[in-house]
Amino acid sequence: MLSSDKNEMHLHGINVSPGICIGKAYLVGKEGVDVVDKYFISKDNLQNEIKRFQSAVKRAKDKLQKIIESTPEELRQHIHILETHKVLYKDKMLYGKTIETIEKERVNAEWALKEVVSNVKRMFRNMTDPYLKGRVADIVHVSQSIMQNLVGAKPLDISAIEKRVILVAVDLSPAETSQIQLEKIKGLITDLGGKTSHTGIIARTLEIPAVLGLENATHLIKNDDIIIVDGTSGIVIVHPDDTTLIEFEERKSSYENYKAVITRSSHLPAETTDGVKLEVLGNIELPEEVASVINYGGDGIGLYRTEFQYLSRLDFPDEHDLFENYKDVVEVMAPGIVTIRTLDISGDKAVSYASNSDEKNPDLGLRGIRYCLKQPEIFKTQLRAILRASAFGPVRILLPMISCHEEILAAKKILNTAADSLYKEGIAFNDHVQVGIMIEVPSAVIMADVMAKDVDFFSIGTNDLIQYSLAVDRVNRQVAHLYQPLNPAIIRMIKHVADIGKNGGVEVCMCGEMAGDPVNIPILLGLGINKLSMNPQSIPAIKKIIRSLNVKDAELFIKDVLKEKSETGIMELLLSTYRSIVFEIGYPEPFSPANNS
Ligand code: PEP
Ligand code: MG
Repeated sequence: MLSSDKNEMHLHGINVSPGICIGKAYLVGKEGVDVVDKYFISKDNLQNEIKRFQSAVKRAKDKLQKIIESTPEELRQHIHILETHKVLYKDKMLYGKTIETIEKERVNAEWALKEVVSNVKRMFRNMTDPYLKGRVADIVHVSQSIMQNLVGAKPLDISAIEKRVILVAVDLSPAETSQIQLEKIKGLITDLGGKTSHTGIIARTLEIPAVLGLENATHLIKNDDIIIVDGTSGIVIVHPDDTTLIEFEERKSSYENYKAVITRSSHLPAETTDGVKLEVLGNIELPEEVASVINYGGDGIGLYRTEFQYLSRLDFPDEHDLFENYKDVVEVMAPGIVTIRTLDISGDKAVSYASNSDEKNPDLGLRGIRYCLKQPEIFKTQLRAILRASAFGPVRILLPMISCHEEILAAKKILNTAADSLYKEGIAFNDHVQVGIMIEVPSAVIMADVMAKDVDFFSIGTNDLIQYSLAVDRVNRQVAHLYQPLNPAIIRMIKHVADIGKNGGVEVCMCGEMAGDPVNIPILLGLGINKLSMNPQSIPAIKKIIRSLNVKDAELFIKDVLKEKSETGIMELLLSTYRSIVFEIGYPEPFSPANNS
């Protein structure tokens, strides 16, 4: 997206890794890999063509191996992403299908590879889940490096960049991103990619500002253009004028000061000025992220999204793999709690790229618990693995997408079968593992009093709750202005769940993005939410804000909030009462062109 006032140009993308950097653009291209010729191969030459393809794969794989071996210490925790890519080189869907296409259609390897990748992309085209989109990106990255070898294009060597620059690319693979040397690369922006892409995860680990999904940055930006990347707001400014430059220099240094200050205090408890202690936990997608939760002062894991382990391979993981993964997380986090959410994805998406999903509305389809109840063996395998991990530290089970009471009973029945089977086999597990549900479907809010009787805790998933309650697709930019966490309807729903939790003795946590945004904290505190789970980087700021707030005041404040009729009204009230706390001295308000005009 693009907006432009004076000479400067503002591009809007996805804020993937916070922070601000200012510098010269360095465009990295992958010339030669997108346009390939098609030609036919004679029968006699087919085997040679296949060998040419195999040799291109081997060279790409060897190069990746070298990158893996030279990965710097700070990124070793993500090495498995590169290992996954190594496996993808020989994946049936890519490797096998390309050879099959060369043979069947008697075409050159480049064309066959291109066709295979286009098919994969087509299969995933209608998917809205950013997570799955990221997995398609893995296939594309792997295929590009093979293509580079086939067409003899110069591979992209990020480690050879000698200047202090900001990378501008259509896309960067995790292997490329992992070669970034912090003293040379200030930040990165790409046309493709999203928050949960591997590139995004690596940028966050490196703590370099990154904005992805800009769509056409590589067309609008030229080499050596001065650009500002604001990874906190997801804005890129091209040709900034002097006023903007000065403003962003200030924002940059105040952000850096702010970060230093909050990180220093991140291990202090999240205790309000009137002595109420809140728990602040982290959301993770990969086991390696536990380290960030601990470093940023998180009390535990409030949401472990377990989909990744199913998606980064092309068949179902077995119980042993799952168990090892969960055990690692539990052991590192102990004595802190680990809340493991069961698989929240539909089978077609998760398992086989080959099977075509014909769901018109996947978000309303066979998703989360619905899929697991339809595939009890897959569910049971995961539950056994979680239960086994519970022998190594505090674990809770969280069920996603609950929309009716029967689903809880059915899931618990399968959980009991899993527990019985472990018991019979003499395998250790904690037989008092708590079971909770995501409150992310409006029907679960309405039925929370009934559901409370059968669960130990609620976790409010505002990402989906907002989507389903306001009928706003959470990833559709056209309706992004309607996606309002502070819409009065949402505030009332949270209040309803919090009240039921209080009266029914059921703990209530919030693990949607709303919990990690400083602006929402006075409201959540006033509503009585005292357990918040968020992306690890947000933990220090949220803890610091909690330490500046008072529950008594927040409870009085919420009475006025509940009288408001609109999100705008609530936001105005919030800022007039709490602006100095939520945008603390030194913490820049997120940049918004509207504030600036
Ligand atoms: C949510 O819906 O708020 C949530 C935390 O789950 P996810 O973002 O994984 O759908
Ligand atoms: Mg959800």
